[in-house]
Amino acid sequence: MIKLSKLCSTCGDMFNGNSLPCQRDILKNAGYRLHQTSPTHFRAAALQKCFICSQNWAKVPEPYRLRWEKEEDNTRNDVDFMRYRFVRNTHETVTETVTEPTEFLALEILWNNMDPLKSWSTFYHLVPTQRLEITAVDDQLIASFRSDQTFSGSSFLNHGSSTSSLRSLQLIKEWCSDCEKNHDAYRMKSTDDVPTRLIEIGTTEWRLCHTAKEACTERVKFVALSYRWPKVPSIRLLKSTEPIFRRGQQIFALPQLFQDAMEVAVYLGVRYIWLGALCIIQDSLDDWSYESARMTNVYANSYCTIAAAASADPNDSLFKERSPEDILSGIAECNTTQGNVPVIGTFAILERDSWHREFEASVLQLRGWCFQERILAPRTIHFATPQLLWECDAILQNETFRNKFPYPRLAPTIRASSIRQSDQNESGILASGIAFKEWANIVESYSRCALTEANDKLVAISGLASLYHKRTNDTYFAGIWQYNLLDYLLWMSAP
Ligand SMILES: [Zn+2]
Ligand SMILES: [Zn+2]
Repeated sequence: MIKLSKLCSTCGDMFNGNSLPCQRDILKNAGYRLHQTSPTHFRAAALQKCFICSQNWAKVPEPYRLRWEKEEDNTRNDVDFMRYRFVRNTHETVTETVTEPTEFLALEILWNNMDPLKSWSTFYHLVPTQRLEITAVDDQLIASFRSDQTFSGSSFLNHGSSTSSLRSLQLIKEWCSDCEKNHDAYRMKSTDDVPTRLIEIGTTEWRLCHTAKEACTERVKFVALSYRWPKVPSIRLLKSTEPIFRRGQQIFALPQLFQDAMEVAVYLGVRYIWLGALCIIQDSLDDWSYESARMTNVYANSYCTIAAAASADPNDSLFKERSPEDILSGIAECNTTQGNVPVIGTFAILERDSWHREFEASVLQLRGWCFQERILAPRTIHFATPQLLWECDAILQNETFRNKFPYPRLAPTIRASSIRQSDQNESGILASGIAFKEWANIVESYSRCALTEANDKLVAISGLASLYHKRTNDTYFAGIWQYNLLDYLLWMSAP
């Protein structure tokens, strides 16, 4: 029932032990063997849709890829251009946090020359498929790791050709309901604060609601949209448009992204959505200051956040087309021994940094406002490309790893829940020390993000600051804390 992935002859040789050792002693002695011998071979294998080679070709930085696409010389004197080795548990950082069975094997592929600045590597984990359980759900075949395995969850077959496919939307629903039933963090979430304004989603119309005036109960369920704001918005809430929006407007006239987010909300059984552009009066400084300070509560109390991770602006769709193979884990027959490591049988090939890569590619990743939105939101569905990612206080999941992303350490780790939780576990000076160290990390990451308005710099992180204030009770001065004011004043920007 398991379908093997397409491999080029070089990758086939790698899995069958037919490849040659590297030529340079330093590589040979470290157990490396030859993979593709030139960029031309590498590209040809990628074009043939070899599972390993096409995935790696896509990772080559663009200047190299463009150069290599033009290159016709097959005989360049670049020995050991791509090489690989099979190793056992290469990465201690992974094993620190993930309980991995010791027989896990990692396949490491490096390419280009010996200069570490011009060399990239890809790590795969090889999991014996006897640990997999194949089940049929409707007409879909799902392969997941057996429940007794700590390393759980991955699907290999039949993904939809868009993140809007029914298969993907069903999965979001499963993630939400699993979180509601099984994750304490969601069950304990407070619901005592609803945003000032919400958009009510009707069948064909949307309407702006003033929650206090319209008896929206404290249990009102709403989703929040996190997206990249355009320089010139086509629609926004102004003092003059408020009465018009309250009367109701056609959904089809909204920017595509807003329509798509509403479709997802309705699919999840949620009738209200919070959208910054339509729920904060954009030409009122008072409203802006008041609402931006309350944003912590908006995200913390939302049913979930829809992050338009791959949408350039509101006119772009929330959903992305893709080739279903882009999110498959590979399956290969192996029959080789590398050094003293036997690699025999049928293996699932799991690329280790897939989450990080898809997350980093998100257009929201470097947007200042979205930085705190992501940390504050208890549950976020990232509509990324090529797949959907789920992030809540308990678990990370994506469509490839539908039950659990196995390498959480490689994904972003700062969560609002962990900031709050620390209160209970620590006390006094120690607690403050830890909190302020974390704060320094947060500010460092935040400083890499871009903001359209320089004036927003402190506002867009104020929700996090208020969370740290609650935790430490220290005095906050524009991004730094009294506790170690002198240290903080020594900041400098990285070159
Ligand atoms: Zn290949
Ligand atoms: Zn959860």
